[in-house]
Amino acid sequence: MTHTDFIPYGRQSISEDDIAAVVTALKSDHLTQGPSVTAFEQTLAQKVNAKFAVSANSATSALHLACLALGVEEGDTVWTSPNTFIASANCARYCGATVDFVDIDPHSYNLCSVKLAEKLHHAKLNNTLPKVVIPVHFAGQSCDMAAIHTLSQEYGFRIIEDASHAIGAKYQGDYVGNGKYSDICVFSFHPVKIITSAEGGMAMTNDEHLAKHMRTHAQQGTTKSPDELTQMPGDWYYEQHTLGFNYRMTELQAALGVSQLSRLDDFIVERHHQFERYHDLLKDLPITLPFQSDDVYSSLHLYPILLPEQHKEKRRAIFDALRQAGIGSQIHYIPVHTQPYYQALGFSVGDFPITENYYQRTLSLPLFVGLTIEQQQRVVETLSQALTDNGIVA
Ligand SMILES: *Cc1c(COP(=O)(O)O)cnc(C)c1O
Repeated sequence: MTHTDFIPYGRQSISEDDIAAVVTALKSDHLTQGPSVTAFEQTLAQKVNAKFAVSANSATSALHLACLALGVEEGDTVWTSPNTFIASANCARYCGATVDFVDIDPHSYNLCSVKLAEKLHHAKLNNTLPKVVIPVHFAGQSCDMAAIHTLSQEYGFRIIEDASHAIGAKYQGDYVGNGKYSDICVFSFHPVKIITSAEGGMAMTNDEHLAKHMRTHAQQGTTKSPDELTQMPGDWYYEQHTLGFNYRMTELQAALGVSQLSRLDDFIVERHHQFERYHDLLKDLPITLPFQSDDVYSSLHLYPILLPEQHKEKRRAIFDALRQAGIGSQIHYIPVHTQPYYQALGFSVGDFPITENYYQRTLSLPLFVGLTIEQQQRVVETLSQALTDNGIVA
């Protein structure tokens, strides 16, 4: 098998225009802190209808900035989904907060708003309410944000959407990121995500104070804004008001991001075509296909399938068979609370059974811009054969 035969689960799509945009940035006067970063922030804010956008060198950094802006600190608790990348939980740990999880809905695989309501009810009685809840829009499908927002009003917590999978997705007809039901919404531009800036992330908000807080903390806690300086001895002057980080995005990343953003809608249309094709090709197999709820338009970051409950112990064999045939299936996600780091904090296998059952049965099939019909057919044929070889299909 040659290298080019390998089909990854996800990858970037880079056009000649994308390359030209990066080269232009590279030849410009600014490699960082220049016009491309501002353009990327403003274009994305306009696109998703958010008032403010703060770019960062990754979504992980943006999530950290978001937690800091909402005042997350030692003694606070932050809740998120266990079915996510570790960064959704780690951002709260960076601030010294305690992390807890809410199990998922068995159909959408998103943080379940009914379980959230139950857990909040108990937490109120025990005086352990969370300061922030971080719903994760798994695979690009928005969580039930209206319900989560209503609960936030009742119980007094703030909301950060981890929309790393969901740029360009819609909820109730509006773009994810518009802030209708949250305080801050974070996107990722890692190469496997919907659009890329190589590494990069962005935090969207409608709250000027939160935006300023995040921007200051992304640049070492410093400001040059005339309205914030305590004195202004000259043009060289800046002031450090707090302890921040260097979380800045470069001009090369931002130029790539702006160029990719112009292709976002086309990318998602292509993902929907691939999604429908998989649905059609896989409809007769005894597996569970990803469910789409009526009030969302997913960006379709992933195509997770589920093996039947009685065959879940064969997942490893199916995964290996796909890999051996050059198909880069992946598992999204190892439940965060079962990571050794989180187990050392007190979590155990068994704590979030729906997530754990989903994890045991799931496989993500390749889905990315540029995946061909022939490649999708190869994925499906290989999967069918593996299901037959393992006695899942008679
Ligand atoms: C990729 C991802 C992140 C982290 O994104 P980076 O840009 O790589 O830091 C956070 N949360 C989720 C759900 C992700 O998939």
